[in-house]
Amino acid sequence: MPSPSALFAVFKSRPELSLSLGSCLAVLAIVSIVGYLLARERDGIEQAAIRASNNIVQLIESDILRNVELYDQSLRGVIWGVKHPELLRLPPQLRQQILFSQAFTTPVRGDILWLDSNGDVRGDSTSSTPRQANFADTAPFQTHRSQPGLGLLISPPFKARLGDLDWCISFTRRISGEHGEFLGIAAGALRLSYFDELFKRLDVGEDSSVNLFNLDGQLLARQPVRAGDPQVGSNYGARPNFQRIISEHKGSFIAPSAERNGERRMYTFAKVADLPLIVLVVHSVDEVFAPWRRTAMLVGGATGVLCLAILWLSLLLGRELRRRQVAEQNLEALAATDGLTGLANRRRLDQVLRQEWARAQRNAQPLAVLMIDVDDFKAFNQRHGHAGGDHALREVALTLQRCIRRPADLAARYGGEEFQVVLPETDLAGAYWLAERIRKAVAALPPFGGDSAPVTVSIGIAVHTAQTQHDLTTLLGLADEALYRAKAAGRNRVEGALA
Ligand code: GH3
Ligand code: MG
Ligand code: MG
Repeated sequence: MPSPSALFAVFKSRPELSLSLGSCLAVLAIVSIVGYLLARERDGIEQAAIRASNNIVQLIESDILRNVELYDQSLRGVIWGVKHPELLRLPPQLRQQILFSQAFTTPVRGDILWLDSNGDVRGDSTSSTPRQANFADTAPFQTHRSQPGLGLLISPPFKARLGDLDWCISFTRRISGEHGEFLGIAAGALRLSYFDELFKRLDVGEDSSVNLFNLDGQLLARQPVRAGDPQVGSNYGARPNFQRIISEHKGSFIAPSAERNGERRMYTFAKVADLPLIVLVVHSVDEVFAPWRRTAMLVGGATGVLCLAILWLSLLLGRELRRRQVAEQNLEALAATDGLTGLANRRRLDQVLRQEWARAQRNAQPLAVLMIDVDDFKAFNQRHGHAGGDHALREVALTLQRCIRRPADLAARYGGEEFQVVLPETDLAGAYWLAERIRKAVAALPPFGGDSAPVTVSIGIAVHTAQTQHDLTTLLGLADEALYRAKAAGRNRVEGALA
């Protein structure tokens, strides 16, 4: 893990990296914000759909409860009536009016029957002369006969035997004698088409449906009805979604539909009070989220384009920055380099000298300076021309560069045929050793253009140590003096002094 200061240095030297990082973070922030807003919007739509479905479920629930109450009241009325013998002596029309509630004389919902202990019809809400039929073989009749005290019984759906032979469910109550003996039952039939009419009035959406089930999973009513939809009476009891509905009683969930090849649908449901009935509203998830999907695609697309534009622009800008930086670095290097030899130039030399001088003072370390001058170069120029002289200067510069080893050492062209080598943390012995190395290396260069005399250099050394109190100019002056001594002593020599 790089340290913060190292990271800072990297970003300072590569500004395009900070630009890329910045724009990536901006893009990330934009994508996160848009993603969060879209997710919140989707949540809101889901909640609104659940609320709307819940309202429908509650509306139907209260309607069913009102109907059940109506049936139960009518059944209790029949039971009360048949226990009064004087009522049975009344003319049939009057008896019918008293026994049956007005609500059932025209069978919009269904009809109410009074069955005696043999299962024969003794009273009929739709006519004063009861229709002839026997219901002794039906499940509710047999259940009430064998089990007293069941209260109101709601049956699975069945096809009616009387009237228009519609699908119905029945509500039945036992009629018991004074000693609990079975006297028959009061039975009301509710036509399931009643729910179809009720459901039709609700606008639930194109691909959605309102359903009524009993607890066994039998479908009692569904709207709207489409071609290929399951018929009334189909059993859903074994389906996982229905089992979940049965176990949760009330709520909402999204799950794949077995009926629609695994398409995801939203189920909102409630069990009707303590009755064996379940109201279920099913929405197509696609339909619920279609407007959201359109918004999401629009916003997502626009965000994507915006992010790509930001990344592209920052890429262009980063490239431009990098190019400018490289150009600046090249210019800087050019401004610090000597054109002929490729060594550091005088400007750079002065800079480094000042830096190293200050460092040597701070750290109480020695600093050595070599002043190097090519011997009899005027004569060399005269023999080989200035082009030959330039070539020789480049060879000498290359030799200097090869001789210095430490990263902090610097070889520079001082001017003309004079060079300087700055050697930080080097004492007089070390400087001598290096100066000799340079002198020998130059003298060993192959003779230029068949010249019998090799190119040689004279070197003057000055070393600053922690014990001395001189300044930089004095140090350079001492190096100069040492160089003169070397020239005076016959050239191709090294002379040195401690400052
Ligand atoms: P000494 O051994 O005393 O240093 O003798 P010298 O001839 O080297 O000394 P002097 O200072 O008299 O001459 C330096 C010569 O170097 C003068 C000039 O012609 C030559 N010179 C300086 N700069 C360049 C350069 O860039 N290219 C070439 N070819 N010659 C140069
Ligand atoms: Mg000179
Ligand atoms: Mg010279």
